[in-house]
Amino acid sequence: MSDGDLAMLGWCDLGSIVRTRPVPLDRLDSRRRFGMGYATAGVAITPFDGIVENPWGPMDEMRLVPVEGAEIAVAAREMHPAMHLHLSRALAADGTPGEFCPRNFCQAAVEALEAETGWTLWSAFEHEFTVIEPTLRFGPVYSVQALRSIAPFVHESVAALRPLAIECFEPEFGHGQFEASFAPAVGVGGADRAVLAREVLREVARRHALRITFSPKPAPEGVGSGMHVHFSFRDRGGRAVLYDPRAPATVSADAASFIAGVIRHIGALTAISAPSPVSYLRLGPGHWSCGYGAFGVQNREAALRVCPSADPSPQAAAAATNLELRIPDGTCNPYLALGALVRAGLEGMRERLPLPPVVAGDPARLAEDERRRLGVEPLPASLEAALAALLEDRLAREWMPPTLHSTFVSIKRAEAAAQESATAAQMCAAYVRRY
Ligand code: GLU
Ligand code: MG
Repeated sequence: MSDGDLAMLGWCDLGSIVRTRPVPLDRLDSRRRFGMGYATAGVAITPFDGIVENPWGPMDEMRLVPVEGAEIAVAAREMHPAMHLHLSRALAADGTPGEFCPRNFCQAAVEALEAETGWTLWSAFEHEFTVIEPTLRFGPVYSVQALRSIAPFVHESVAALRPLAIECFEPEFGHGQFEASFAPAVGVGGADRAVLAREVLREVARRHALRITFSPKPAPEGVGSGMHVHFSFRDRGGRAVLYDPRAPATVSADAASFIAGVIRHIGALTAISAPSPVSYLRLGPGHWSCGYGAFGVQNREAALRVCPSADPSPQAAAAATNLELRIPDGTCNPYLALGALVRAGLEGMRERLPLPPVVAGDPARLAEDERRRLGVEPLPASLEAALAALLEDRLAREWMPPTLHSTFVSIKRAEAAAQESATAAQMCAAYVRRY
């Protein structure tokens, strides 16, 4: 440790920007109980440094309290000082969990799932991102050459991401596009990992003077980047409860209801997990980013799919089979996306909804009447349309506490308004710079 080391208390805000109040690292323990203060009005800051109408005034102050286990350190190297990032949850001034805090929202959702069903949630996020360096030659997509073209960055990233259980770092389909994926973590832990992983990748990229972006669409004609969320469930005895080899789509009846809830609320989920104007340049059929609210097995054009196990033995299949929501992108707050996903699934379980039709292939290729028969709807085509779907969904409107919900909608409306007359290229450039 060096005298200059800071512990950054990080708080992932509604636009998924990690804001920070730092303290000298050796003073962190003195902040474990009451944390650091941050003006509650800060909740209303947009990703572009504006601030929207909000209920908090100049007096309101939240406390950012570090969460045990939700931290990462990237060791110092040469002239680059160490980075210590400690994710925090927000307490309101009276010491209760702040209702405006995305992490608290996610925590409450996973607790509700556990209380009502006995299930714990396991999740893992995949981060697609793009290296924006016009002078770099990446070579063919998915190639050894592409990965080796930035080998020092990859090597250092993998080392730094080991504490977050990185499983794969691969070249992707886009020019300069890569993907890092992680082992599943329980409860809110999956989202903690997602937030930390992005900041680690940004830190290592800075050290290598590489520009990277998690924006869903770095360029209008380029390949999009998603932040797919894989998830599964275990019961109180630790047994995997998603897989049933005899059932349709190999999912148990309760999991089928969870899936049905997600599909029923897919419009609201889209607003929360693809929450930027630029998100809608990515979503759409034909690019494996998904354009319809469809459910499928293995189907990369479905918004929600079952990912079967490579090992077919019953035990391995039970442990490995998982679901994947493909809508989320790097501009969404992982806590909001995961919490809303759980809320949607839980609605389906409460109503014991049956499994939605299993769609094979790209839903865009189905005849209109067939699509209607299957109940497959296109996803909202713009942020405004997605926000309208969120506001029209009577149940989804209640998922977030009122101040979180209204501030989220206000921020997102401000972003939509700011891009109203922008060209696709201008919009892409703005989000590349921010994300
Ligand atoms: N890049 C695609 C997306 O926007 C996903 C490709 C893949 O299946 O990994 O979601
Ligand atoms: Mg991918």
